[in-house]
Amino acid sequence: MKGEREVDDVAVIGGGLAGAAVAIACARFARHARLRLFSPEEPGRGAAYREGSPIWFMNGPARAMSVVAGDPGHLVRTLRCDPNALLPRKRFGDYVRESLRIAIDGRMQVRVERTAVVDLDRAGDGFILTDARNRRYRAHTVVLALGNARPADNFLPRELLESARYFGDPWRTETNELPTGDMLCIGRGLTAMDRVAAYSYAEHRGTAFTLARHAYLPAREVPAIRACNFRALNIDERSPLSLMRSVRAAMRDNIAAGGDWREVAEALRQPSQRIWLGWTSAQRRQFLERLAPLWGSLRYRVPAATEDAVIALRRAGRYVPIQGEIVAASDEADGIRIAYRSGSEQRSLIVASVVNCTGPNGDLALNPDPLVRALLRRGIIRRDSLGLGIDATPYGEAIDDEGLIDERLLALGPMLRGVLYESTAVPEIVEQARAIAERIARNREEWVA
Ligand SMILES: Cc1cc2nc3c(=O)[nH]c(=O)nc-3n(C[C@H](O)[C@H](O)[C@H](O)COP(=O)(O)OP(=O)(O)OC[C@H]3O[C@@H](n4cnc5c(N)ncnc54)[C@H](O)[C@@H]3O)c2cc1C
Repeated sequence: MKGEREVDDVAVIGGGLAGAAVAIACARFARHARLRLFSPEEPGRGAAYREGSPIWFMNGPARAMSVVAGDPGHLVRTLRCDPNALLPRKRFGDYVRESLRIAIDGRMQVRVERTAVVDLDRAGDGFILTDARNRRYRAHTVVLALGNARPADNFLPRELLESARYFGDPWRTETNELPTGDMLCIGRGLTAMDRVAAYSYAEHRGTAFTLARHAYLPAREVPAIRACNFRALNIDERSPLSLMRSVRAAMRDNIAAGGDWREVAEALRQPSQRIWLGWTSAQRRQFLERLAPLWGSLRYRVPAATEDAVIALRRAGRYVPIQGEIVAASDEADGIRIAYRSGSEQRSLIVASVVNCTGPNGDLALNPDPLVRALLRRGIIRRDSLGLGIDATPYGEAIDDEGLIDERLLALGPMLRGVLYESTAVPEIVEQARAIAERIARNREEWVA
């Protein structure tokens, strides 16, 4: 075939944290594998670890954030930092990028292609990939590390989506790109907190608003906190409601015993995937509808420096959280008017910019990435039943539209939220990358034999 190259052992699509972690893990556990990493953006950063604002920090301690599978002390050793430090996210991105560079430096069998993959099809016992330059590649195994798609906005009024004052990608919008004046963030989670803190840091004049259906604000992170013993907590994990009831009781008991509720939240991390896998689809849906915002506010905590900036802005009367739902929007001479429903009342405000901070869009049916569209069209992947990501086994093996498992098409990271739910933080992703590298090493032994 014209322009086609030799067959790679593995093609990794996406060079964010997950793609970089796979390449680094392969350098360690599958040293001889021929690997090609496709990354239109600078590898190692993705949505989370770009330049951004200096006030954007990791929300977990450095000791838990090594990108090198099997070497948990790598980050602290490399950066010589305090194990409990919450690093600026850009610095973490620098660390991932540098770790990737060192892992693949001088290794002829590893290639980085600075381009997107736009199509993928099965061919023989592997795959054929087409990139945005219309070049073709063959690979035995493909790893989908497509990560965090920009937030969904199909629920927002068309007038807002068409306005120049609307910013749909909160992770790739610099604060100085926003028009001067008041800013509205849709959502109230960590991304909204980041945007409000950056607004304050950049000394934007005006007021920052957040608008969300729920009233929960992310809790403050305390990096020195350690998980308590899960088994000693008596957590009733049979259903989402019993889980949350028993978690709350355990948190109260822990506080009464002189501890911190976060120690209980941390203890749930390790068994969380098993608990999710044990629930029925109806129970998972119930969790998403009724408990996910509360769980998110306890589990994904805000770094102290970010929260301090938000609190200072609020004390100055320049940060206003609103509970409500957008119902209409219209461009006006001095800004965009947002009408929202709050309880039984309808109100409005005029702002200079609106940033969508509602979180990554996991619903593949709404994903505009040409590769995702092609994979769905060909029936090679399908969306999970909750619309959180790709349908797959707990090991990340994709399931096609006929329900067949493909052991050669693997996904990791945020794409697996529907299957594992807790699948987005650095430690989980690095562990998944290790499992993929070990599988590739095993597969390679079979091909070579
Ligand atoms: C703002 C933010 C802050 C976070 N902070 C923390 C934290 O402090 N601690 C923590 O543990 N976790 C954190 N997380 C969670 C976690 O670390 C991220 O979700 C992580 O970035 C996921 O990595 P990823 O590579 O899967 O996805 P992404 O970072 O989204 O990277 C995916 C990459 O794939 C590329 N891509 C997409 N389609 C194609 C294609 N067709 N061809 C080629 N490339 C493609 C994209 O360009 C992108 O570069 C954060 C997440 C976000 C969004």
